[in-house]
Amino acid sequence: MVDHFFTKLIELAPEAVVKDTEIVAKLSKDYYWYSPILEKDLAGKQAEYVIVPETEKILKDTLQLAVEEKIPVTLRGAGTGNYGQAVPMTGGLVVDLSKLNKVIEIGDGFVKVQAGMRIRELEKQISNTGQELTIYPSTFVKATIGGFIAGGSGGIGSVTWGNLWDGNVLSAKVLTMEEDIQELIIEGEELMDYIHSYGTTGIITEVTIPIKPVTSWVQELISFTHLQEAFQFSKQIAQDNSLKKRLVSVCEDPIPSFFRPLKKIVTNKDQHLVLIEIAEQDHGRLVEIAHTHNGISIHTVEAEFYRKGIGISDFTWNHTTLWALKADKSWTYLQNFFSLESVLSQIAQIKERFGDEVLIHVEWLRDRGKLIPAGLPLVKYQSKERLYEIIDFFNEIGASVNDPHTYLLGAGGWNLQLESIAKKKKENDPFKLLNQEKLPAYDLIKDYL
Ligand SMILES: Cc1cc2nc3c(=O)[nH]c(=O)nc-3n(C[C@H](O)[C@H](O)[C@H](O)COP(=O)(O)OP(=O)(O)OC[C@H]3O[C@@H](n4cnc5c(N)ncnc54)[C@H](O)[C@@H]3O)c2cc1C
Repeated sequence: MVDHFFTKLIELAPEAVVKDTEIVAKLSKDYYWYSPILEKDLAGKQAEYVIVPETEKILKDTLQLAVEEKIPVTLRGAGTGNYGQAVPMTGGLVVDLSKLNKVIEIGDGFVKVQAGMRIRELEKQISNTGQELTIYPSTFVKATIGGFIAGGSGGIGSVTWGNLWDGNVLSAKVLTMEEDIQELIIEGEELMDYIHSYGTTGIITEVTIPIKPVTSWVQELISFTHLQEAFQFSKQIAQDNSLKKRLVSVCEDPIPSFFRPLKKIVTNKDQHLVLIEIAEQDHGRLVEIAHTHNGISIHTVEAEFYRKGIGISDFTWNHTTLWALKADKSWTYLQNFFSLESVLSQIAQIKERFGDEVLIHVEWLRDRGKLIPAGLPLVKYQSKERLYEIIDFFNEIGASVNDPHTYLLGAGGWNLQLESIAKKKKENDPFKLLNQEKLPAYDLIKDYL
């Protein structure tokens, strides 16, 4: 049987349409398998069509065709999201934006770039002007800037500059899925309808983000015998605004033993690790402070070797979980906010209740101006019931969980303005074609608000 939509797609952009079914299957997946629950829920979900447009015109014509034919559309950057954000729930068309990847303008304090640009590549280009990114995910080598903005939250740099919604996106060019596709320029508060909205409200084609003068970053691994001391040290560093840093992570023993490439460095057993990126001028002071908490510097990467070989950030954020999964497939993870004031007692309660079933991993970040020890704890997976028992306990003690085991926007937390997002979707996507089934009906999600 001749497939009408496929024929039209081929007519439109023969080179851009993916014909290999194995590649179609691959481009229908992301990193949802981090969650044994999502692994089951999303098994077998696959696009019928995939297109990788190389020009904005082909992108726009493809979307117009999808609107005319009422074909569901799911957007894709690099597919590194953990919650099945980029998985097409109802088949249809996946639009891979990774070839719309040009830098449009680099100015003093900002860069305007197409959404499909890989973040590492973007960093290289802006570094030629003596500037650097504010925040980026640990997946920056692969991830696209549009995918990060539409599907991520924060990362390296967030301890100083906050999350995506904290001024780290200045403006975006967005295509709608109206009968006649419109091009919108979005700025200010309205950006909140697009940031971390999984591409349910529009297609981001360009973004402008802030950039800063480049800093010489030293990478440091500091080892501690006691988790409490590691934590107190990390807190002091995160809180001290006179120290310039872009990464402060804490990993409980035995997490560091999962970091295979660091095998020769992390040699002592029973060591908790603090992983840091600090400005060169503050490095000496950092090591002195570590001594006062009985911390020992076990590895220093001088600034001249930044981005040469594997970096410290390759073991932080959700890369920590990746190394654990490589060591033992039965690990999974949670995301939570500990309370700044009672984080130590919360951790003690968790350890007392769950022992080594839960291993503490914390990334220090700022969210909406507030410094937060954000947990990405590892959990030894036994069953869905047990996982939610653990989540309930975290919530009971005030270490509130942003559930990473759901593909529903908003059910994973982050205080999204779901009502406004739902309204914007109605305006921009009246035929409800974009990333179907990710944005639940408002009635279903209001309990999470
Ligand atoms: C090992 C590992 C570590 C990670 N570390 C971090 C981290 O430090 N911080 C963090 O925030 N996340 C992290 N993540 C999650 C993920 O990598 C990031 O969110 C990443 O930035 C997503 O980029 P991507 O290009 O792969 O987007 P994709 O996964 O392709 O897409 C993400 C979402 O955005 C939508 N989308 C993509 N492009 C567009 C567009 N142009 N317009 C509108 N919607 C679009 C997709 O439909 C999807 O819903 C991690 C994941 C892994 C596997």
